[in-house]
Amino acid sequence: MSYDVNNIFARILRQEIPCKKVFEDEKILAFHDICPRAPIHILIIPKGEYISFHDFHSHADAETVAHFYQKVAEIAAEFKLDEAGYRVIANCGLNGGQEVPHYHLHLLGGTKLGGF
Ligand code: 5GP
Repeated sequence: MSYDVNNIFARILRQEIPCKKVFEDEKILAFHDICPRAPIHILIIPKGEYISFHDFHSHADAETVAHFYQKVAEIAAEFKLDEAGYRVIANCGLNGGQEVPHYHLHLLGGTKLGGF
């Protein structure tokens, strides 16, 4: 499977579609999910063309991966989620329920989340 340059998150990165931005630097973009499943539901995406969690970890260099997760933790702290806790989810591929084929991490918090 090759990367679809017209997937919705690629279009958000190109600013063809707006988003409620939380954080941006040269490597990542974080924005509020359009359909939040918790009081705080942020999506964090690398700017590189990675289809999924698996693709990201198979092809991104170690510095890019480390930077990504460092920022996820910083964003969680910025939203004051670190003390009470939060959840990060990466749906991967068809069986993982991934709908948008550009790697993204869901950061969920602000309430006691249900089990699954
Ligand atoms: P997935 O199922 O691929 O892990 O999650 C995709 C997420 O992207 C969903 O939670 C969905 O609500 C969110 N989403 C889909 N389209 C848009 C959009 O245009 N803008 C934003 N901000 N989120 C979107």
